[in-house]
Amino acid sequence: MLLSFKTELKPNNRQVTKFRQHCGVARHAYNWGNSIILETLTARETDKTVKIPSAIDLHKRLVAEVKPLYPWYYESSKASPQQALAELRTAWDRCFKKVSKQPRFKKKGASGDSFYLEQGTKAKPGINNDGKRVKLPKIGWVRLHEPLPVTAFHNCVISRKSDRWFISFKWEIEQPEILPNRPTVGVDIGIKELAVCSNGQTFANPKAYRRMSRKMKRLQRRVSKRVKGSNNRKKAVSKLAKLHLKISNIRKDSIHKLTTYLAKNHSEVKIEDLNVKAFLKNHKLAGAIADCGMYEFKRQLEYKTQKFGSKLTLVDRFFPSSQICSTCCHHRHKMPLKVRAFECPNCGNIQDRDLNASRNIERWFEGIFIPEKSELAVSSTVSACGVDKPDSSHATATMNQEINTKITYVQLSLDLGNYG
Ligand SMILES: [Zn+2]
Repeated sequence: MLLSFKTELKPNNRQVTKFRQHCGVARHAYNWGNSIILETLTARETDKTVKIPSAIDLHKRLVAEVKPLYPWYYESSKASPQQALAELRTAWDRCFKKVSKQPRFKKKGASGDSFYLEQGTKAKPGINNDGKRVKLPKIGWVRLHEPLPVTAFHNCVISRKSDRWFISFKWEIEQPEILPNRPTVGVDIGIKELAVCSNGQTFANPKAYRRMSRKMKRLQRRVSKRVKGSNNRKKAVSKLAKLHLKISNIRKDSIHKLTTYLAKNHSEVKIEDLNVKAFLKNHKLAGAIADCGMYEFKRQLEYKTQKFGSKLTLVDRFFPSSQICSTCCHHRHKMPLKVRAFECPNCGNIQDRDLNASRNIERWFEGIFIPEKSELAVSSTVSACGVDKPDSSHATATMNQEINTKITYVQLSLDLGNYG
């Protein structure tokens, strides 16, 4: 399978200058293309026949109209501005489909500086790798921070975070050996903990923001006190950026450890498909979730389950995982966030809120929650999908059924109440 890799580079000063030039060219092309598209959109207001230029149209115009005006374009690889225009067009497509906002102009020095490089022709390959260094077109051999196996890749992206430079590229890997007899696991993304697994394993939150928030506040204050445009302000900004990078690295590291554990040791990983946007509107939750990085967690699990041959299941976001007793399936309605322990009014079972939730998540299946005591004839929808682990034909049958999940859970607990 093809996996994406990112590793740090150790460029010398001359190479850093080259990197910055390439970023500048990519940014210039992007901003130029953006202004052209904005002009076209204004023209379209009066004349609907005006066509919005494609990425190829934009590149043709760039070569004909812009490059001759700015000779420094020729000092950089031609793939960088071309890819910048392609990315701009994709960003506009997303905007037209109302998936994301209108692409903005890129600012010099802002985070997210990057550029794209391509292999070039077969006769004169531009990208090469000898394990300790990579050869980049127009830049030359750049040292690597960590050794790489000697592999061929055809294109790569160089990016900057704070004052550090990274290279990312795609790489074909062999599937690792899969451990036999792996169990299923349910994971609850905690507020207090990073994650709680249904097998009782807990992963603590790094709380990187909180631990370093005082330092961060001090640095932010320093930035705001310095005169705009001064060298001292630049220094303060760079220090702040370094701290941000450090915090994000700590966070990423803990999420990587968690997702590897989950994907490697389990045949199926079930997580709640949380609507992060709705969550972030709730300010009490915002900090903790921003700290954990939900998007990153899901993204890593997606490719790691693929890598380790396991399955990732997203549990319906309306599934009230924290409100059901995982022992007797009694449905309890209110569970405010501050209540940390789940106390069942039916069977008297007391357990940690997140552990209870993760156990419920583990037993969730394709739109229907399967309680442990499902051999009882529960509501018709549930009995239709059988006991414990339903087979695949049931899975498709339940997929096709339009089930109002909320109602199903209530029915379920009522029926269980009658029998138990
Ligand atoms: Zn109970």
